[in-house]
Amino acid sequence: MFSIISRFLVLLALASTGSWLVYGQWGLVPSFVVGFGLLSIPLIYSYFNLMRLEKFIQLDRVEAMPSASGLWGEVLSRLERLVRAMKGQVRAIEAQHERFIDAFQASPNGIIMLDDQDQIEWCNAIAERFFGILFKRDAQQRVNYLIRRPEFIRYLNDRLFDEPLLIEQMGPSANLSLMVQVFPFSENRRLLLAQDVTDLRKAEAMRRDFVANVSHEMRTPLTVMMGFLETVQTLDLDSAKKEEYLDLMMVQGKRMKSLVEDLLTLANLEANAQPAIQSTVPMDAILALLKNEADALSGNKHVISIENNLHNALLGDERELFSAFSNLVSNAVRYTPEGGKIKVIWRDTDDGGAEFVVHDSGPGIAPEHLPRLTERFYRVDRSRSRETGGTGLGLAIVKHVATRHQAQLLIESELGEGSAFKIHFPSDRINKAP
Ligand code: ADP
Repeated sequence: MFSIISRFLVLLALASTGSWLVYGQWGLVPSFVVGFGLLSIPLIYSYFNLMRLEKFIQLDRVEAMPSASGLWGEVLSRLERLVRAMKGQVRAIEAQHERFIDAFQASPNGIIMLDDQDQIEWCNAIAERFFGILFKRDAQQRVNYLIRRPEFIRYLNDRLFDEPLLIEQMGPSANLSLMVQVFPFSENRRLLLAQDVTDLRKAEAMRRDFVANVSHEMRTPLTVMMGFLETVQTLDLDSAKKEEYLDLMMVQGKRMKSLVEDLLTLANLEANAQPAIQSTVPMDAILALLKNEADALSGNKHVISIENNLHNALLGDERELFSAFSNLVSNAVRYTPEGGKIKVIWRDTDDGGAEFVVHDSGPGIAPEHLPRLTERFYRVDRSRSRETGGTGLGLAIVKHVATRHQAQLLIESELGEGSAFKIHFPSDRINKAP
């Protein structure tokens, strides 16, 4: 404001002097009036435009830019173009920034940006969940105050960022395994990435357990067979004793064969992700076959009956389905003591589907075992399973086959009350045609 007034006064003095020199003979006052009058027109105009400009700056809206003629018009329109261009650039940068933020938020990995002091500059929602951070609360906090695991603090201090770091028991329920790695970027900043590897770790553990279980299952019959072979080789046995040992070796050989067969069945089921073949499975014939098999396995020591209310066919892969049904029936025979009752039922259900049920009057299963029965090699009665040639893989196969047919395996059992194993098929797996 001061500079405008001082400029105004200087201009005024100059104009007055000029007018006094030209119009000297009229005296000082008239020349001053003439000079002031002449000068005040552009000055008032400039002052008026300055006020409009100031109002525009206050409003901060490009559309509110005043227009004018002459030099002021030129200045204002240039200014408007400049402001528009700058606003456009700011909008583009903001949109790009938003897109980056959205991309980082969409990432399945936890992302934390750290400054040169390892303070949090930004993090995405996944990182908040993984590490229990709240960006609004924890921005500018040092990351090692928030992730207080000793292995992480050591990793950060040692600056050995070429390798990732595995941190276990993370997340809100302390059940996540996270693979964390720090990547330095511009001006001593760091990007911390955290990947959830919980499922991978579980799969690795399962694979290790599986290999250990298979080796254990194989080693037992192999050791027994080697023992017999050694005896036959080293001792001079009579032919009756030799015969006996060979029979025992045959039992162990058969045990290994069933194990390998069950493993191959499982591997085939897992490898083939396709839904089961849509062929018609004639249930009448299948049930008759199951009855023959069960009678042979039982040696007529059980009362085995078949009930078939639904003579419709089932749609699916006959070989897979027969192996699942036969596993359930053979389990019932193997685990039910002599004289027990076994009933195999094929019937329709209220929802338009159908179920295959095997009831037995056997020992039943305690509730704590029920959820784990379909795990590979899980056995309630280990010795009974081995004695009767079980591999511990039967129910795992049944569950796989059921899932591949969109069916559900349901197990109902109580200790001392027998068991019922049911495979429930949805209605579109049942061929209603007679
Ligand atoms: P296995 O080859 O040992 O029979 P399965 O996977 O078929 O393996 O069954 C797993 C376990 O479930 C068995 O070891 C047994 O303890 C239990 N089980 C299965 N069927 C029955 C049944 N009908 N009655 C009692 N226990 C059963």
